[in-house]
Amino acid sequence: MISPPRAPSLSIENVDIAHNLRVVRRAINDAAVHAGRNPLDVRLIAVSKTVPRGTVEAAFRAGQTDFGENTVQEALSKFPSLHDLGLTGHFIGYLQTNKAKFIPGHFSWVHSIDRLPLAQKLSRACEGTDARLDTLVQVNVTRDPNKRGVAPESTFELIEQLMAANLTHISLRGLMTLGPYHGDERILHDCFARLRALREECAQRFALPQFTELSMGMTDDFPIAIAEGATMVRIGTAIFGERAYKTLRD
Ligand SMILES: *Cc1c(COP(=O)(O)O)cnc(C)c1O
Repeated sequence: MISPPRAPSLSIENVDIAHNLRVVRRAINDAAVHAGRNPLDVRLIAVSKTVPRGTVEAAFRAGQTDFGENTVQEALSKFPSLHDLGLTGHFIGYLQTNKAKFIPGHFSWVHSIDRLPLAQKLSRACEGTDARLDTLVQVNVTRDPNKRGVAPESTFELIEQLMAANLTHISLRGLMTLGPYHGDERILHDCFARLRALREECAQRFALPQFTELSMGMTDDFPIAIAEGATMVRIGTAIFGERAYKTLRD
């Protein structure tokens, strides 16, 4: 691959981001190859929450196009300047229904569908535009009371409701989960394998050929998630560093 010429004014911080991205991409590649998978089937989403806009731009210049944010407000302050250049926005946090109207135009993906009214609002927000949102149902695989998402056994019911609601501007693309924070490897494998099995069941049961995506894996557990079939990994800390960045906010 031919890399674009480096701008001479890159700060140390920018060089670090490019370096971190290379390290993360290599780790993704290795994990995929190790699992007998095509590395191109794993999309890296750089989670840029709390990261200042200039740093997001540095990551974009280093070739990163998919970014994840967990609040609407923050994304609106960072994404617009990069949107025309080809940034793909992923909404990965809890979304209040009354914020749904801000999603089209800033985000292409919403990973956190957990109730029908939210999906209805999102679809309506896209009406009159040519926007169409790719969405994932968030599942609380481990039933952690501190995490959002539908219980595994409620997933079919929610998808049934979403399909019956005839949401013209919403595509159902797969499932998302957060692994247990302090789980040992066996527990992480088990959590991600259960999401994979659930996705397969959903795709079959509802005859959804596009229901192919598994958004799972973060800085501490992405190789395990890739081994279990992740098609999207959401990585923040390994790219941008600890969120002490907060103090450097633009
Ligand atoms: C912050 C966040 C991530 C990234 O976590 P890291 O451990 O920093 O890689 C991934 N997914 C969600 C939903 C997040 O909120």
